[in-house]
Formats: sequence, C-alpha cells, structure tokens
Amino acid sequence: MKISKSIFRDLSIYMIGFGILIGIVFPFFTILFGISPQIAFSPIFVLSCISAGAVVGLVNVLLTKIIVQKQMKMMTEKMTMIKNKFTKAAQGFEVQQCDINSCHLDISSMDVFGDNAKTFNSLVDTLSLTMSSQQLNSLLEKNAISDQALRQIMDSTVAEAGAIFLELDGALTVSASFGLSDPESLSKNKILLAVASDYRSVYLEYPKGMEMDGIITKIQPAAACIEPLAFNGTSLGVCLVVASQKFDEFDLDKLRLNLRTLSLALHNAIIHEQVQKLAATDPLTGVLNRRFGMDRLREEYVRSARTNVPMGIMMLDLDHFKRINDQYGHLAGDRVLITFTKQLKEILREGDNLMRYGGEEFIIVLPGASQKDTELIADKIRRIVSEMIVSYGDFQIMVTCSIGYASIPECHISSFERLIKKIDEALYFAKESGRNKIKAAQ
Ligand code: GH3
Ligand code: MG
Ligand code: MG
Repeated sequence: MKISKSIFRDLSIYMIGFGILIGIVFPFFTILFGISPQIAFSPIFVLSCISAGAVVGLVNVLLTKIIVQKQMKMMTEKMTMIKNKFTKAAQGFEVQQCDINSCHLDISSMDVFGDNAKTFNSLVDTLSLTMSSQQLNSLLEKNAISDQALRQIMDSTVAEAGAIFLELDGALTVSASFGLSDPESLSKNKILLAVASDYRSVYLEYPKGMEMDGIITKIQPAAACIEPLAFNGTSLGVCLVVASQKFDEFDLDKLRLNLRTLSLALHNAIIHEQVQKLAATDPLTGVLNRRFGMDRLREEYVRSARTNVPMGIMMLDLDHFKRINDQYGHLAGDRVLITFTKQLKEILREGDNLMRYGGEEFIIVLPGASQKDTELIADKIRRIVSEMIVSYGDFQIMVTCSIGYASIPECHISSFERLIKKIDEALYFAKESGRNKIKAAQ
C-alpha cells in the first residue's frame, strides 16, 4: 500500500506507526500480567509505551536504511558505471572490459538481494558479451580479434592465462596469448592438434593432466581447457585457457559463448581477407593487378623519396608475344604468362612487388635496390627468361623479354608519373635496339 512517493518514507510511516500502535495497546496487555489498571493507564506509563514503540520503529527505520540503502546505493553506482561504459562503447569508443571484480555485485546474501545481484551480474555478462561481440565483428584483423576475445575470456571466467591458435594448412600458429611462457612451443602439441582436427574439447585437471611445456605461468595451474574454434564445420583453430582453480559449468558456458563469437568474427575476417586479396590480384597470374599494384608502387615511391632509401623499378614486356598467340593459340599464350610470372617470383625476394601492368607488360618494384642492383636483377631476369622453356602439349615454347629500368634517387626523376614515363621510354629503346635487351632510363 503506497502512502507517499518514496518507499523509504512509506516504510518509516509504517514502522513508526506500528511502533506507536503497539505502544497504545501495550498497557491493555500489562493488565493481563497483573499490573493494576491505575498504573497501566496512567498518563506517564501510556506515554512511555507510545514513546518506546515510536523509538523501536525509528531504530528499525534507521537499521533498514543503513543496511538496505547501502546495498541499493552500491547497485545504483554499478549500474551507472556500466551504463557509462556501454554508452561510450555504443558511441564508438573502445570498450573497457567489464571484469568480474569491477562490474559484478556481491551475491553472498542468501535472499532476494542475492537473487537480485545474481540476475544483475548475468545481465552485465550478457550486455558485455553483446558489446564485445559487436566490437569483435567490427574488427577485421585476425590477431586483433583474437587478442580482444582472449581478454574478454580472462575477464569473464576464472581463466588466468591462455592462447588462441589459428589453423593454416593443417598447422597451428599463435594469434594471441596471455600469461604463457612459451605459447609457440604449444602449437605443435598433440592434444591441441587433436582438438583442432576432431573439434572435441579437452578439459584437464592438474596434476593428473599431461605435461605441457609452454604452460609455465606465473600461476600454479589447476585446470586447463582446450576448445576448438570452428565455423560451419570448418576448423579455424583452438583456444587454450588455464586457471589456478577448476572451471565450473558457468565458466565453461561463458568460455564457449565467447568462442562462438570469436569464431564468427574470425570467419568474417578471413572472408574479408580473401575478398581483399581477390580484388588486388590478377586472376590469370596471381600477381598484383594494375589498380592495387600502382597504389603499392606509389606508396613505395613516396617512402623512398621521403627517406632517401633507394628503390629500383623496371618495366618488362614479352617480345613478339602476338606471334606466340598466333602460332600456338591464346591458351598457350596464357600458359607462357603464367610460367613467366612464376619464374619472376622465384627470382624476386620477399618485399619486392610484381604487378601486371597490362596484357604482357609487368612492373617490378625493388625496395632498397640501387641503379647497379636493379641493372643486375634486370639482366638476370632477361637471361633466365630467355633460357626458359614453356611446355604446352607437344610444343616447347621459348620467349624473351625486354626491360626498361631505373632507380631513385640516383636517376633524379622528380615525380612518380615521370618515373613511369621514363621506364616506359627505356623499355621502348630496349625493343628498338633489338629486343631481349635491358635499358636504363635516361
Ligand atoms: P613486342 O615485342 O613489340 O612487344 O610485340 P608483341 O607482339 O609482344 O606486342 P603487342 O603489344 O603488339 O602484342 C601483345 C599481345 O599480347 C597482344 C594480345 O593479344 C596479347 N595478350 C594480352 N593479354 C593477354 C593474355 O592475357 N593472354 C594472352 N594469351 N595474350 C594476351
Ligand atoms: Mg610485347
Ligand atoms: Mg606490350
């Protein structure tokens, strides 16, 4: 029954009112215990009883306020803190993780307050998971995704150390780790590999469990949990977490929920990576296509111009390629292009860029290569290509190429566009001087 707009005020009115009522009826009871009516109904006794009732009511009010209001205040403070965190996250700021210590309420009270705290905590967990899953799905880099998911697992379960391994061509590589002494050594661990291939979780309790060299942590592990990461039946990797206490059902549920979100985010990242790769590569030869290749070349040019670190560049064109198409057919021409680029990739080093500039024209960027280096590599390419034999059916096709090259800053070319123009001209001179030649830009 509501009297005012404040529950505590209502409670005070009820408690003090009830105290006063008891004070009023108390003198009647005293008669039953043999107190004379004269004393029982004397103004001083009646007043004392009413005052005592009022004081008891007041003390009750104060006690309730101290005990209940404290709990309520704590709940409000946590709710405000969590609301602020999630509002910030919704506005695009980085989510500060909600760990058990900072966001959960104490659930030790075995009554409605404990129940409230429990419900509140699970609400926080759900919100936290929703937020972090949104954040994970907005990331596109596999290591960043793994790192964030691992942090979330550490915050929401008893896990104190762990690692996420991604599967690539049947091998595991570490994409994130926390608190483990040597996570790399675990990537060849038989149990982890078995979990990745069978999609079956393994839960180990120490010291009965097996030896895992990489799990030398600051903590004394009591349990380890190894879970598969999979999406639509495709294995993505495994997650290993360890704790100095056992994982209970709630921890395992939260861990698996987090891993499901992680798997989806990883799958999205892989698809994104594939699409990016597909958009950047030439479908026939698998090298960079012109659009992406030119962007890369421009980046390298700007970097080289800024840092004064040399950069070699060459433009290559197959000689009399039309004749190959005419003589052996277009598919044979394609085979020559594929073999040619394969050969170039073998000659080039990591960090060098190969791009298909046009039909049978290619550009190679050699970061760090001086004019002399570029000349040597260009001539090596020219020679190897001229010795290359492409088998196509019964045919043994031979081909040569002409190359125009330059290296900045040695060649003093002031702009990116002029650099391209100059190596194109050099290529033309190489063709003019008889083909199967290399020429430096002037
Ligand atoms: P040059 O020595 O002067 O470079 O003579 P060329 O015959 O190589 O030069 P041209 O530019 O006249 O001919 C290039 C040919 O490359 C014409 C075109 O049909 C062929 N070509 C372009 N792209 C492809 C491709 O993807 N596959 C095949 N098979 N041929 C291609
Ligand atoms: Mg040609
Ligand atoms: Mg050409």
